[in-house]
Amino acid sequence: MNSHVTTVPQQPFAATFSPTLNKFLTVARLKNYRLPGRPGDRHIVGTSGGADSAVTAIILGKLFPEQEFVYLFTDTQAEIPGTSAALDQVAAYTGKPITKIAHPDGLHGLIAHFNGFMPSGQSRYCTRILKTEATEDYLEIEHERHPVTFHNYVGLRADEPARTGLKSDFPWLKTHFPLRDLGVRREDVFRILDETIGIPGFYRIKSRSGCGICSFMRQSEVLGVLEAHPQVFAQAEGVERLADEDRRRYAIPGLDRSGVRFSYPVPPAIDIRTADAVAPQKVPRLKVDEYKLSDGLFERPDESVFVAVEYFVDPMMAAFGKNDTGTPGVWHQQLVGWSQSTESLMKAVNTHFTTRLDTAEVFGLTQEEMRHEFRCTIFHLTASARALDLGPAAKDTFAWRQDEPLAKVRYVANLVKQTLYAAGLEQEIAQLRSIKGLRQDSWEGERLISLYHERKRQRPEGKLIKAFVYQPIESRRVNNREEAPCFACSK
Ligand code: SF4
Repeated sequence: MNSHVTTVPQQPFAATFSPTLNKFLTVARLKNYRLPGRPGDRHIVGTSGGADSAVTAIILGKLFPEQEFVYLFTDTQAEIPGTSAALDQVAAYTGKPITKIAHPDGLHGLIAHFNGFMPSGQSRYCTRILKTEATEDYLEIEHERHPVTFHNYVGLRADEPARTGLKSDFPWLKTHFPLRDLGVRREDVFRILDETIGIPGFYRIKSRSGCGICSFMRQSEVLGVLEAHPQVFAQAEGVERLADEDRRRYAIPGLDRSGVRFSYPVPPAIDIRTADAVAPQKVPRLKVDEYKLSDGLFERPDESVFVAVEYFVDPMMAAFGKNDTGTPGVWHQQLVGWSQSTESLMKAVNTHFTTRLDTAEVFGLTQEEMRHEFRCTIFHLTASARALDLGPAAKDTFAWRQDEPLAKVRYVANLVKQTLYAAGLEQEIAQLRSIKGLRQDSWEGERLISLYHERKRQRPEGKLIKAFVYQPIESRRVNNREEAPCFACSK
């Protein structure tokens, strides 16, 4: 099936001066960096909306303003929000239009075409049809029209020498790595983006560009989409086909509702107001008063789960009041994931932490600052086996991630958030109650009363047993996905 090809013209853009970009343009000139091949050859720059390809396009566009590049983007029509804006910015900054290739069905249409059969590791038809074949078709047609050598520029960086990039079967297609040739590293890429078109916001959620929801995403990324783009999550959830049994399991009244507030308890080792702060290796326990759950809730024996929450803590926030009622210093918090095994949860946190380091700049931090400010708490929660159903999905359920349909992710996330939110309220109530001589008409007294009423309104299905701070370690995995044309998969 032929893909649609459209060319999006560049918009006017008031280009800002980028010292980092200027440095590499100077390096290129000193190295006498030239485009390969002969006059008349075609030059293709694959753009995905991601950081590396954007900087490749920017550097080439600025180095060779007169050259006619084809900035090529294969659109799955299910891209994470922000992709299109990032591409527009590249086009505007370089003055080069983007050529978009889109399969008429798009990702969701393709899944419908395959009777709801979702892409998976065994059958990754999305990449093949939407990216590989669409790109090859386009290039073959172009090559028939222009039978010359085609040069393909790929954004592999100088600090990832193990990656090899795609191997093409077309003898007339040559691949080049300008970032590697010029010594551009990860931190340079983010600095150039920060100084020019901005870092795409989706790096707060995903480590790579690509579809909003994908079979290969990690649980932490799926949770990021749930929080940041609930409409994308809901659309992807609508594509899944749940067995009746699973439909019932993940739709217990009272839990499957949106609008659950999320703020998490802050353990003493994270709270800048306490003496224990910034000493996470001590693995302290968070003391949270247990509270009674409604009668009759526990029809079956309890189930329990370990849950990881990340926090970014800035000790400088102590300037805003390092006392009983001042800020605990947390400026970002997010649910990272859950597991019934602490070991696998810690592994997942390590991977997540490594991704945070690799994309620290999107939060306005350097890697060193991220190492300093990142904290993680692992909470141990329990709930009735009826409410906390972590068993595998039914065999005849078709989901993006077979082991964990999105309905289940939403369901468990809601249970976890409700439970931790209530526990956080209890913790804050206990802190305020410990203030000596607390007056009811003081700010603290009024806050205590409002927290008390808020807590009474909460009906969490689970309870917090204990919590400990986990100090993650960087986990550098061998990247064996270099040959895959879709760079979006992060698993
Ligand atoms: S990002 Fe995932 S779903 Fe999208 S095309 Fe790539 S592999 Fe398929």
